[in-house]
Amino acid sequence: VLEADGLTKHFPVGRRGGRVVHAVDDVTLTLRRGRVTALVGESGSGKSTVARLLAQLYPRTGGDIRLHGESVTVRRGRRFRAYARRVQMIFQDPFASLNPTHTIRYHLTRALRIHGNAGEGRAGLEQALTELLGKVSLTPAERYLDKYPHELSGGQRQRVAIARALAADPEALLADEPVSMLDVSIRLGVLNLLAELKERLHLAVLYITHDIASARYFADDTLVMYAGRMVEGGDSESVTQHPAHPYTRLLIASAPDPDRILGEVLPEELNDEDTGEPPSLIAPPSGCRFHPRCPAAMERCHDELPPRFDVPDSGTGHWAACWLYAEPAAGKEGDAA
Ligand code: SF4
Ligand code: MG
Repeated sequence: VLEADGLTKHFPVGRRGGRVVHAVDDVTLTLRRGRVTALVGESGSGKSTVARLLAQLYPRTGGDIRLHGESVTVRRGRRFRAYARRVQMIFQDPFASLNPTHTIRYHLTRALRIHGNAGEGRAGLEQALTELLGKVSLTPAERYLDKYPHELSGGQRQRVAIARALAADPEALLADEPVSMLDVSIRLGVLNLLAELKERLHLAVLYITHDIASARYFADDTLVMYAGRMVEGGDSESVTQHPAHPYTRLLIASAPDPDRILGEVLPEELNDEDTGEPPSLIAPPSGCRFHPRCPAAMERCHDELPPRFDVPDSGTGHWAACWLYAEPAAGKEGDAA
């Protein structure tokens, strides 16, 4: 459905400009119908920026975005509205994304009308509202429609936010940390709902998270970002069970226990002595951006940017941007595979 190719975003900083934050560099990804793709990384790795670029919320510095193979360039007018309808975003904080002075009925009716899905007359609208809440398992609809956001639980609010996105009848959902603000006990329900929607509505879902353990359970494909760049990708099973990139291994080592999946599996930032600080994106490290923290760093890692290499003996399409995989046939790096 949706592809990004070489997506790049540099934000100017400081009064005089001149310096830039390399928030996202050369990110390439594909979202497919009926699949959840997880984009995993620490806070500040650029994953939210990728989602906002894909949603066209701000202009990109470079690269291409394609919807069904067609480049998406405009950020206003009729063509942009058509794009925005097909690619919907869900945010981290459902409370902030719903207006507290309006009922659920108001929010959903408005979204249905904007997207021309409000049906015929009063009965048509009621039916559309009931169907929408049914899709997110808030039933019976009458119990929720006339409530205000503060009268619902966090999980119910996130379901309303998802319903509002579905009012557009989208093809892709971009979910930025959709459960990280929710109580641990209700995260599973919301993630299961997203997984169910991808099946039933054939949606392409981008699931952004700092929790790689949850990617293992809810995503078909997993992509890992570090310091604005994509460092590893492939099917979730392969990436999470046989991580190839030293950074991904570090992430998984920080979240070893699958039972903690719905708890605080990863601190917002991995800044203990073992891992060091994530680098500044104003002056990102040369070569492989992970080299200052990498236990396997070699000479060339300091100044040569590693391209994507296939990970040998792994799932199809599993790749890592790491020099350890430069010579898969040589075998000398065998213990790393
Ligand atoms: Fe470590 Fe080098 Fe691989 Fe980067 S390219 S992750 S520094 S081994
Ligand atoms: Mg974020």
